[in-house]
Amino acid sequence: MTPGAKAAELIPFLRDYASTRLNSRLADARRCLPPQVVLDFGRRGLFGLRVPRDLGGLELGWRAGGSVVEQLAAIDLTLAMMVGIHNELGIGPILRWGTAQAKADLLPPLATGRMLGGLAITEDGAGSNPHAISSTALPLPGGAWRIRGEKILVGNGSWASVINVFARRDDEGSRKGIIGFAVMTDSAGVRMGPEMMTLGMRAIVQNRIRFEDVRIEAPRLLGSPDGNFEVAEHTFQMARLGLAIAATGAIKRCAQLLVRYGSRRKIWTGPLGKSTVFCGALRAILDSVEILTRLCSVVTEALDQERPVPAEMFFVCKILGPEYLWFAADNLVQWLGGRGYLESNEAPQILRDARLFRIFEGPTETMKVQLGSMWQSGTGEFRKFLLALPGGEEVVPRIQEACDEIWATPSPPGLSLGQHAFSRRHAIGALVAEGVAWALLADPASPSGLLARAQRNFQELRRAEVYRTSGAALLDLDAAGQKLASEIGDVVQTLPGEDWVYNDLLAPGSQ
Ligand SMILES: Cc1cc2nc3c(=O)[nH]c(=O)nc-3n(C[C@H](O)[C@H](O)[C@H](O)COP(=O)(O)OP(=O)(O)OC[C@H]3O[C@@H](n4cnc5c(N)ncnc54)[C@H](O)[C@@H]3O)c2cc1C
Repeated sequence: MTPGAKAAELIPFLRDYASTRLNSRLADARRCLPPQVVLDFGRRGLFGLRVPRDLGGLELGWRAGGSVVEQLAAIDLTLAMMVGIHNELGIGPILRWGTAQAKADLLPPLATGRMLGGLAITEDGAGSNPHAISSTALPLPGGAWRIRGEKILVGNGSWASVINVFARRDDEGSRKGIIGFAVMTDSAGVRMGPEMMTLGMRAIVQNRIRFEDVRIEAPRLLGSPDGNFEVAEHTFQMARLGLAIAATGAIKRCAQLLVRYGSRRKIWTGPLGKSTVFCGALRAILDSVEILTRLCSVVTEALDQERPVPAEMFFVCKILGPEYLWFAADNLVQWLGGRGYLESNEAPQILRDARLFRIFEGPTETMKVQLGSMWQSGTGEFRKFLLALPGGEEVVPRIQEACDEIWATPSPPGLSLGQHAFSRRHAIGALVAEGVAWALLADPASPSGLLARAQRNFQELRRAEVYRTSGAALLDLDAAGQKLASEIGDVVQTLPGEDWVYNDLLAPGSQ
């Protein structure tokens, strides 16, 4: 069976499953997915979307696998994230960078859902800048390693049997690059910490995890022992594409609910759906679906055909997908009015879940800074890729012209040259992402008016970014803090919560 045909089978399965076997609202309220979902998904292959068939997976490839993720995200974003974290952050690095032994040992149970996977890189002192991690990996004689450090916000954490852990190679004090290991969570020295209470994604776990001198045998090293961040970076790229695909599915769901409400709800001027304000918002949401669909198709097709995709395209996915999803989720709640605020109506859960997308796998702001920096120092591969898009010939010079204008803004008083450079790179990254959206739409098959709207969005963003980089938005934080404290005080609540400490009289130990 072709990957497309296999995916086409899974989509009706998911729709039927969601109609009869899933209660996302209850799982969210209970803060836990029911176990049968994992068992059922495991049996259907959803935990091994890209794993080769001889290792127990479905071997779907990017495009077909993406269509399954998009459908799942339209049903339940938390569930899509659990499956996504497992497939991309848990399996992805082992599939691409694992040793033959690690693949043979770990992929069959992971692909069939008998073990869950995750990834741990974030630390208290290193989140949007993962290069700042302080966990260490010390090489031991004979090829083994010793890992030490503490990670936070590990998705699937306490449910996972395998976690890909990233640490800085430390040869007795001489610190080198960042390397990864597939670590079994039952290894001696792995201390599972508390579950972290999150705004959304409530039905899955995120944990703090400590690694206390955990010994890792040589075959569990991911990629090169020299540590050039390649494994982590590649894994993030693929996960960023996955987030854009999931965002597309969830935005379609928001649009579907808005269409229903707009057609049925009467306001004092008539049907809500006849309001130009409502239609303007819905149109922007549908436009974003069109842009993301084209963006994800261009990238997944190239990956399936093993053509190179410039790293910048994954940053564009991570910027546009989550930002468009947030716009759609916020508008869903807004246009449903009071009903949008009721937990029974799906919208609040979508809003809470969607909020993670702008933060996870690199927050939008840092993605823009990196994209802007890559545009400035780029090798030309990305521009070549853009020039091959429908509107590339027209858009690339427009992006460059806007970036030159941003780069020429003088440094505002109070900002160092470095801070101003960051601010300008952020602006350039934002313009590049918007420019890609424009380039993707410039073909005769684009829905009417969409190209003109993309051009207008680009020009408006250009004006706003020139204004911001000139320092017009800078604030005196001390003065702002003092004013606020004088107006509302400096309150910290200290009344203790529930007592969950195990009683000393019952604890194990000497009598
Ligand atoms: C529910 C959830 C699940 C997660 N799952 C995982 C997981 O499975 N594994 C894992 O390792 N991590 C995970 N994370 C961590 C996540 O990836 C980080 O929270 C994220 O990368 C941001 O890091 P931070 O929280 O330290 O933010 P900070 O680094 O403190 O950033 C704060 C803000 O400053 C902005 N900022 C930072 N630098 C710049 C700059 N140069 N210019 C402009 N703005 C800037 C950022 O955009 C952000 O808005 C998860 C997080 C959450 C909430």
